[in-house]
Amino acid sequence: PATPHLIPSLVQGAASAIQTHAEEVTALDRAIGDGDHVLNLQRGLDALAKQAESISALDWPAALQKIGMTLMSSVGGASGSLYGTLFIAMGKALKDREMNRPNLAEAFAQGVEAMKARGKADLGEKTMLDVLIPVADALRSAVERSLSVPQWVDEVSRAAEAGMESTRDMIATKGRASFLGERAIGHVDAGARSSQLMISAIAEVLA
Ligand code: ADP
Ligand code: MG
Ligand code: MG
Repeated sequence: PATPHLIPSLVQGAASAIQTHAEEVTALDRAIGDGDHVLNLQRGLDALAKQAESISALDWPAALQKIGMTLMSSVGGASGSLYGTLFIAMGKALKDREMNRPNLAEAFAQGVEAMKARGKADLGEKTMLDVLIPVADALRSAVERSLSVPQWVDEVSRAAEAGMESTRDMIATKGRASFLGERAIGHVDAGARSSQLMISAIAEVLA
């Protein structure tokens, strides 16, 4: 769907979702992390906002590559290199391909695979992967069933929300929360919540 011209509004949508829930997400990272997750994301989103116009003049593979590089260099913390890896891998996957829903679903799945490899993590470790993996599956499944755009947005948002909620009762085995053992139970993972918020916001813009 769409051209890179949408990138400024996609960045804006993600940034305002994080802004609206900044206190909540910060409290989550304070409970079982070090409390800086929103600041880390905002640094990245601000850097993207500054470059959004020039990025939107690129083709999709180059734009995604540039987004990934920008996040890697502007975001401190675990999330920066992980999101950077996701976008760079998506850019690679879309090389010489059209941007359409099947190719987007495939590229996103490859981006998530690259993130899994980078962080040596998988489903069930109480991280943003508990949102991103189900979203990748939902994107593929929506393509197979040729869903309409509103249904597509709805299913992706639901998958993200269910994944986010699933982290509440998990013990963390990656990231800072892994030092807490059972004390992490009862708290949603901050990175899962922020990725769910951004995915739902982006899906709304694409709808
Ligand atoms: P830091 O933990 O370095 O302060 P952030 O606060 O920005 O970084 O990001 C923390 C989030 O990163 C966690 O809530 C979790 O969702 C995610 N995370 C941490 N380690 C991993 C990993 N190995 N794989 C995937 N996601 C991870
Ligand atoms: Mg943190
Ligand atoms: Mg930190």
